[in-house]
Amino acid sequence: MADLAILGGPPLRTVPFPRRVTMAREEKAAVNRVMDGDSLSAFLGAPGSAWLGGPNVLSFEQTWAKLFGYSYAVSVNSWTTGLVTAVSALGLGPGDEMICPPFTMSASATCAVLCGATPIFADIDPETFTLDPALVEKAISPRTKALMVVHLFGLPADMDSLTDIANRHQLDIIEDGAQAPLARYRDRYVGALQGIGGFSLNFHKHIHTGEGGMIVTDDDDLARRCQLIRNHGENFASDPDEYGSPPVFGSNYRLTELQSAIGLVQLGRLPKIIETRQQLAARLDDKLSGCPGIVLPVIPPDRTHSFYVYPIRYNAIEMGVTRQRFIDAVAAELPAPRSVEDIALSAGYVKPLHLNAMFSPDGEDRRGLCPIAEKLYEDDLLLSFLVREPLSIRDIDDFAEAVLKVVDQRARLGDDS
Ligand SMILES: *Cc1c(COP(=O)(O)O)cnc(C)c1O
Repeated sequence: MADLAILGGPPLRTVPFPRRVTMAREEKAAVNRVMDGDSLSAFLGAPGSAWLGGPNVLSFEQTWAKLFGYSYAVSVNSWTTGLVTAVSALGLGPGDEMICPPFTMSASATCAVLCGATPIFADIDPETFTLDPALVEKAISPRTKALMVVHLFGLPADMDSLTDIANRHQLDIIEDGAQAPLARYRDRYVGALQGIGGFSLNFHKHIHTGEGGMIVTDDDDLARRCQLIRNHGENFASDPDEYGSPPVFGSNYRLTELQSAIGLVQLGRLPKIIETRQQLAARLDDKLSGCPGIVLPVIPPDRTHSFYVYPIRYNAIEMGVTRQRFIDAVAAELPAPRSVEDIALSAGYVKPLHLNAMFSPDGEDRRGLCPIAEKLYEDDLLLSFLVREPLSIRDIDDFAEAVLKVVDQRARLGDDS
């Protein structure tokens, strides 16, 4: 075999991976239809039919609810505001605690703070990267009101155990499904298996509307409260009978007609996107299984994975190479990334939230609070962004070959530390 590229040998592949292109003819035609109608947003804050939005918003929501199998879908202008909407719809406020994993995008925890409540971090399971039910149980206090369950990287969390805990302690569950659209837990798609949750539509997610989000629920009252919060809440005062629920303060979290028109087309593409990613991931599983020093994604038999990214656990001692040296050696075999979507392997995901200064205003050093997340961040986690459309099996094979080449010749990599 040729020398490793990082040691001066020829790289395995120089042709760039195909670009991720998200907007096609259909999206452009949908946008033009809205432009021709000249109504870029049809929401009114006042009572009447327009308080729920215009035709594209309504149709996007109905189509989403049907595909995901929930009674209601409520669109919002981001999933961050969707999380705030869901948490305030559940009534969390000052004095309340919400248990949340530390290894997630910050908005999963910030939403509690923005409602005046407090996020309490409970560590994750090292195999599934989602909340460890035993540690959730330990984090419960008399002030705990809700669990924020994040289906990280696209894998559903252990919903049966978490639901059991929530039922025993009378806690609400909010699902952050931003990375897990159309991921199944038993016979349902995740999102609101236990009340309320939703999805992100920002540019980097499986499908997008530039920015945007979608809340789902089967609960009439929660859906109504979310609709009120999304659109100023003032309708409550005008007709409590029609608008139900106790009063809530609302804001403006409305998605536009333009975005909804794009979202409708994107939604049609989602099942194929998930299927493609699952096929690429299965191919990587085949090619890389049995490799020393790496553990491939673990998917419990009652769940499916949406592969927002492909997570690998790395063992530097077994490999005999530091994580960063390994990443650099694989990168050297492959074309230079043009954007985040081309990154073959990256280290560690986000800094665990309990270590982020934003969540320790008193400056307290909370290292050690969530050792699993800390170790994944510092040593053990690799993420591949290449498990994405429109890569082909041959493209993903090149990535796998690059990894195998580095693993085969790892003894020659020496020590870079
Ligand atoms: C992307 C993401 C969010 C935030 O979604 P936005 O639409 O960008 O506001 C929240 N949680 C997780 C896990 C995410 O990946």
